[in-house]
Amino acid sequence: MKIRVLGCSGGQLPGYFPVSFFMNDHLILDAGSITSCLSLKDQHKIREILITHGHLDHIKDICFLAENLFLAGSYRTISIYSSEAILMDIKKNIFNGIVWPDMTKSSFQQAPIYSLRSIKKMLSVNGLSIEATAVTHSHAALGYIISDKKGAVVFSGDTGATDELWEKVNRTKNIRAIFLECSFPSALSDIAWKSRHLSTSSVIRELQKIKNTKVPIYLYHLKPVYFEKIQSEIKKLGNSRLHILKSGSTLNF
Ligand SMILES: [Zn+2]
Ligand SMILES: [Zn+2]
Repeated sequence: MKIRVLGCSGGQLPGYFPVSFFMNDHLILDAGSITSCLSLKDQHKIREILITHGHLDHIKDICFLAENLFLAGSYRTISIYSSEAILMDIKKNIFNGIVWPDMTKSSFQQAPIYSLRSIKKMLSVNGLSIEATAVTHSHAALGYIISDKKGAVVFSGDTGATDELWEKVNRTKNIRAIFLECSFPSALSDIAWKSRHLSTSSVIRELQKIKNTKVPIYLYHLKPVYFEKIQSEIKKLGNSRLHILKSGSTLNF
């Protein structure tokens, strides 16, 4: 599985890009940084977009991608996959004709840019099998376990302390990597708890729920304002499994 990290920050500042992963050159996981980081040629390769939840930093670029593809004139309808509730958030609050045109409808005799497809638990697309699990964040938020023939990778999405995802991870064979959010430094654990995110110290507690003690952990969704602080806390832990994910990197599993 090839994973190109377009963006992996929990906010936006120059040099810091909200979350988007481009997988196997056809699937986007979260739409925080598609059009700011991917060439128009590569934007045309996108076939599916998988969304963890409806917060703006995870969906905003579906708007600009739709506009680019529409103006370029040739495109294939892209499937946006998530839970029914999250797709409803997008339809009602973004594609409502006020914030942005409804890109799920055909216009000017052209096919719709997007088709919204709800997933219950499992989904199979282009050689990837995707399992969705509710995590602890907004009113509707998902983490994903994505597998191919070689193994599985896990994306926590935005979450506070959670259990069901780790129970599934503990039952899944051949986990190659876990992408885990870490939004705040330890001193702000209270804010992390209230906003249903993780801090450096709560990440350590989450790791204790994962039986596989060798799988690498890639921390992401660090708030740019606290990036240096979180990075130095992680370094001090001296745990060789923990990596801070970098925008612009490509990983193969
Ligand atoms: Zn977020
Ligand atoms: Zn969020």
